[in-house]
Amino acid sequence: MERIPVAGPWITDREIAYVTDAIAHAWYEGANTYQDRFEKAFAEYLGVGYAMALPSCTSAIHLSLAALGIGPGDEVIVPEITWIASAAPITYVGAQPVFADIDPQTWCLCPASFEECITPRTKAVIPVDLYGNLPDMDAIRTIAGQCGIAVVEDAAEAIGSEYNGKKAGSLGDTGVFSFHGTKTLTTGEGGMLVTHDPTVYKRALVLRDHGRQSGDKQFFNAEVAYKYKMSGLQAALGLAQLERIDELVERKRQIFEWYRDALRGTDGITLNYESGNITNTYWMVTVVLDPEFKITKERVIERMGALGVDCRPFFYPLSSLPAFAHYEQMGRCRERNNNSYRISPHGINLPSALNMTAAKVSRVCDALRSILRS
Ligand SMILES: *Cc1c(COP(=O)(O)O)cnc(C)c1O
Repeated sequence: MERIPVAGPWITDREIAYVTDAIAHAWYEGANTYQDRFEKAFAEYLGVGYAMALPSCTSAIHLSLAALGIGPGDEVIVPEITWIASAAPITYVGAQPVFADIDPQTWCLCPASFEECITPRTKAVIPVDLYGNLPDMDAIRTIAGQCGIAVVEDAAEAIGSEYNGKKAGSLGDTGVFSFHGTKTLTTGEGGMLVTHDPTVYKRALVLRDHGRQSGDKQFFNAEVAYKYKMSGLQAALGLAQLERIDELVERKRQIFEWYRDALRGTDGITLNYESGNITNTYWMVTVVLDPEFKITKERVIERMGALGVDCRPFFYPLSSLPAFAHYEQMGRCRERNNNSYRISPHGINLPSALNMTAAKVSRVCDALRSILRS
């Protein structure tokens, strides 16, 4: 039986044509045309002033923090439940990550927990648009504004999602995206930093190019910085995908609807939440199982795998990872962040690749039900 992958892109003739054109022509005076077009179209789609194409979302978070002037002695608040890429760049700039709890319904950063984690050293917060949903950004922005805290919105999983009619990624001081092969829009590997702020944008431009500023004496660098750029071939792929973004997002929402319909009537499971003021683009369709099933997420994933269905675990609380075991605050996180520790053991991402069909969704749901029954 054909294996059902957990994630993957939707590539058409348009993508192949653009990349073919880029490999033939995007050199010499045309070396930056696809990056320029991709960035311009992306900024327009998001409704922001500036967009910068980068090698990854990880580098976009690193660059955001560096451009905002975050450094040693500073604290940056990030939700417990996210990919480690949301938090790792905090350590790259020498700052300290502080893990806040998630909201039990949205699975995104809880504003009250964010507020509780603020100290005089807090300089930034990185709310994460988990699995395509968004946190209560009005509350987060109000708290951040009152305390002079910068907001870096991690929209890696939420391209096309909306909050009160505004696009995910446009709601912070900077917003960051990933175009990894598993994400809704892909360039293979890639990322984007967006901002409304010309000062942050200009600083990020310098930092991403080994500290070079236009007008500087050539090869006479004023500072040590980074090299974070996207290639023209990747940008050509990204531009073609962006021109199809409505179709990609529509398919993601369709996949979720197939699941919701197929799982209607299955007791003891909770699917992704969508509140009235949000359009969720469901990067990963996720089920949280009632603890009464008395089965771990790892065991369910193993048994789904045996049935040819690839799933993923809901993210583990970051404070539970060996990677952060040496941080002294971790014991306190475990006590404080109850929602994260309560929900994570029971959450599973179901196959959400853009090549899903109603028939495959039905096969996944049959497999899940057979495991939950036994
Ligand atoms: C995928 C992802 C990232 C990292 O993206 P890369 O492009 O692989 O660096 C960051 N944050 C979240 C929430 C992600 O899902």
